[in-house]
Amino acid sequence: MFKSGTIVKVLLPNVVNFGYDYRLESDAELGAFVRVRVMNRPYIGVIWGVGDGTLAPEKIKPVDRVFPWKMSIADLQWIQKMSEWTLMAPGAVLRLIINVQDAFTEPKTEQLYAYNFDMPKTKMTENRQMVLDAFELNDNEPMSVTDIQNIARVGPSVVKTMIAREMLRPVAMRAVEKSFVYEYHDMGNIELNDEQRAAADKIAMDIANGGFSVNLLDGITGSGKTQVYFDAVWRAYSAGRSVLLMMPEIALTTQFIKRFESRFGAPPIVWHSNLTTARRREIWRGIMRGEIRMVVGTRSALFLPWQNLGLVVVDEEHDSSYKQEDMGNYHGRDMAILRAKLAGFPVVLASATPSEETMHNVERGRFGRLVLRSRYGGAELPKIETIDLREHRPDEYRVDSDNMSTGTLSPILCAEIERTIAAHHQVILFINRRGFAPIVQCKKCGWVATCPDCSVGMTYHKRIGKLLCHMCGRTMSLPNVCPDCGGDVSMRGAGLEKIEEEVKSRFPAARTAIVSSDTMMSHGALERLVARMESGELDVIIGTQILAKGHHFPNLTLVGVVDADMGLFGTDFRCAEHTFQQLFQVAGRAGRGKIPGRVLLQTYNPSHPVLSAICSGDRDAFLRTDMDARRAAKMPPFGSLIAVVIECKNESVLKQFCDEMARAAPKANGARIMGPVMAQIYVARNWYRMRFLVSGDARAHLQPLVRLWMSRIHVPANVRIKLDVNPMNFM
Ligand code: ADP
Ligand code: ZN
Ligand code: ZN
Repeated sequence: MFKSGTIVKVLLPNVVNFGYDYRLESDAELGAFVRVRVMNRPYIGVIWGVGDGTLAPEKIKPVDRVFPWKMSIADLQWIQKMSEWTLMAPGAVLRLIINVQDAFTEPKTEQLYAYNFDMPKTKMTENRQMVLDAFELNDNEPMSVTDIQNIARVGPSVVKTMIAREMLRPVAMRAVEKSFVYEYHDMGNIELNDEQRAAADKIAMDIANGGFSVNLLDGITGSGKTQVYFDAVWRAYSAGRSVLLMMPEIALTTQFIKRFESRFGAPPIVWHSNLTTARRREIWRGIMRGEIRMVVGTRSALFLPWQNLGLVVVDEEHDSSYKQEDMGNYHGRDMAILRAKLAGFPVVLASATPSEETMHNVERGRFGRLVLRSRYGGAELPKIETIDLREHRPDEYRVDSDNMSTGTLSPILCAEIERTIAAHHQVILFINRRGFAPIVQCKKCGWVATCPDCSVGMTYHKRIGKLLCHMCGRTMSLPNVCPDCGGDVSMRGAGLEKIEEEVKSRFPAARTAIVSSDTMMSHGALERLVARMESGELDVIIGTQILAKGHHFPNLTLVGVVDADMGLFGTDFRCAEHTFQQLFQVAGRAGRGKIPGRVLLQTYNPSHPVLSAICSGDRDAFLRTDMDARRAAKMPPFGSLIAVVIECKNESVLKQFCDEMARAAPKANGARIMGPVMAQIYVARNWYRMRFLVSGDARAHLQPLVRLWMSRIHVPANVRIKLDVNPMNFM
């Protein structure tokens, strides 16, 4: 406890400065949230320790207000360690925690609107549907205009018109503090089988013993991992602790929420990026007050002001969405483990395809591993086979009465689709490419349509009738002829929309739907599609991997991977691992019910080790081989990497600055600084990009080296540097 009058150091949610010294005018504890002034503007900060005397006494200002809320000492250590590890400034970490606007002010009064469900459905447009979805995502609670625009991703005019037409109606403004009175119970409706019981008992023991531990729950899809970690969730919760269940956004489905509710008797508090500001504020404060003790959320839920956190479950721990790549680079799984280590509580990682980082930690004895080998209820794993496209060339299909087009689906796959539909079963076709044609090229001179702001090709999207840059979102009209030589322009490659065209042409009677991250702007639309699939209203879904997680369709018996080669030949050392994980997840969708499933992978490289491993189902053999290769190459998890990306809109300033950086690069044993080289995407949104890569063996402490390097250089105002520790993405 610091007495009134003490000079304390306050950490501020600011990237540049750590914070300043302030004088307490009342007693306050270490870690307390306080309000202070910087250049006469109020900021919320955290008492970090005693003042360090860097400010002259007459310059020291008083602390305006001490809130009755605080962070624990373990939390402060967590901020410190996380900053050391990720190279983010401590204030940048604090900003992730104090990221909820108005969390510290009394509830604000603003005009809210409710969706008017009495209106006839006739006036529905795509935009208005997205507004409706935004409401559904927020339990149809009234929302402010800003929230509607942000969550539905529509412009102000859409909202204005809807208000004018009374599709949205104003409701009484409200400014009350919401309290949370959820009661959870173990509904006792699940009996674990022996394998599940053994795993659950081990975790239960760790929870009972208290202290830090990490267990990997390693089980094939459908083995009941969810039931096992629900058991752990209940134990920690009923012991009075708070519980966080982290998931990738696309696995956070209505199906999942329903399962949670049927197990615990009430829905979980859900945290993700599409909540209204009012809701975010409510949840933040509810957690701070200790009323909310159970949250299901995406990676940012880790930064909620947890009280007495006693268990974190990281579902799909291998998933790349745990890595945050703008606003600082951190890995949600790793930061959860760090938090657990400092505060002393258990973590459960669940996956059917654990990451090599995690497997390495299992091998070193740092993490426990609990294996579920069989699918629950004896459902069989699907049979996985390749289709060699060199032998089984796709036939042309008819676009309209005059035109034929090159097909993408081989005759074998088509026959299997036909058979599946005839048996009233369902099909999912996976293709990880949005739009219609990924390449638009001149037949005569080879010109390719590329984005003028980014050094990437533009994709033709038929639905909008335009070329679209997937990097920056710029659209352009499709040229009739080549802008360079006037030659004919052709479309090459096949995206989602083209596969849809082909399926509709070949199976005109099939009820098909298409799902991708661009057509599925909102969860609402995705949920409707899932519901249609569950009720048997659909025969074929064509989609990106958004459907590869969290869904359980008992009637789905055929999964076709249209282009299994897509991830095989990347330049990134993780590409085999990621492709394996994706294909394995995708395959896991098939045959989850009573009827066995079949998975067909179209490929030109049927003997590629990744594909052979998928087909033989020998995941561990694949992991061993891939990990051996990484060990030999001293790549993570056997070595460490830090990417340093330098960006500037002025190419020559960038080059010059990078040369300067190269000269300032420090030397250290066991570490190397490579570069600068042009980044794989050299121009993005008009910023030129160069990259250094710092590498070292596993024990090399690269962070201090990079910190030393950064302290030696002066960064011009028009240059930005992004540091990425253990990068997942090499673009
Ligand atoms: P995973 O998370 O490993 O993919 P799930 O937990 O989703 O597996 O389980 C697959 C299916 O089996 C689900 O429908 C689930 O409800 C059911 N299931 C798993 N274990 C049990 C159990 N012990 N009792 C009843 N149903 C179970
Ligand atoms: Zn041309
Ligand atoms: Zn672009």
